[in-house]
Amino acid sequence: MQLTIIAAIIISKRKFFELRSEFSHHLEIYTDGSKNGIRTAAAVVAPNSVKTVRLPDNASIFTAKIHALDMALDIIRHERSKDCVVFSNSLSSLQAVESCKVENPLILKILKDHNQLINSGKSITFCWIPCHVGIWGKGDADITAKAGLDVAISNIRFPVSNLLICVNQLCVKKWQQLWNQCTSNKLYSVQPDIDFSVSSSMGRYDSVLINHLRIGHTRLTNSYLLKGESQPVCEACRSPLTVKHILVDCTCYSAARQRYFGVNTLKDVFENVASRNIIAYVKDISFYNRI
Ligand SMILES: [Zn+2]
Repeated sequence: MQLTIIAAIIISKRKFFELRSEFSHHLEIYTDGSKNGIRTAAAVVAPNSVKTVRLPDNASIFTAKIHALDMALDIIRHERSKDCVVFSNSLSSLQAVESCKVENPLILKILKDHNQLINSGKSITFCWIPCHVGIWGKGDADITAKAGLDVAISNIRFPVSNLLICVNQLCVKKWQQLWNQCTSNKLYSVQPDIDFSVSSSMGRYDSVLINHLRIGHTRLTNSYLLKGESQPVCEACRSPLTVKHILVDCTCYSAARQRYFGVNTLKDVFENVASRNIIAYVKDISFYNRI
């Protein structure tokens, strides 16, 4: 199947109008999609037809822009014009169609509809016009798509992968609700918010070290349990050695702590202190390679 897609390097309105003049005898159709929160809409604008549909909630903006292309084909089917050009500001949508990603049911439908129209004698060119060219934003398709966010939802099928983000958010929400009931768990005071990830810019050793400190279990402070030995004591003040003692309580290390963070609870250490400062502190007090 041959698709005609133009992804010209168009850097100005003047260039756009030059390109447009090449299609002066074509039926011009503009497509766009819009998303606001969970609402998504697609729109298509042709000389004699303006259409918008609101997709089911949580559909992606990519799905909206793909669906807008199919709406354009639907208009072409009902128009007398033989030669048509479809303008889109979504390069990813056009590339997905061009590469025949048929695992997406919307793209499969576009390919089928396009093939049917080509076989009926239509000539269809898809053309990408980047947003920065300036014909979008004030254009009818953009405004129509935004207006579509407030109409009734249409019964349109879309890839289940679009729902992964909201499924993930729901799981995190449920997980947080369960965790909020575990206030007697000692880790709750360290990390009441479960939606946390260690900075990916940290090295492997530092990431593991921060996680061990966060859960309060380190080789230095807890290996005595496995070995059947007595609990180790702080070399500086002879108090029982725990992560909380190292990071918050030990007065002998308070001067060193002040150089890296000035908080007094484990919760504050892990919520409000940069991981690199915690690492720098344990290096300063010579615990880095022992924890
Ligand atoms: Zn101490």
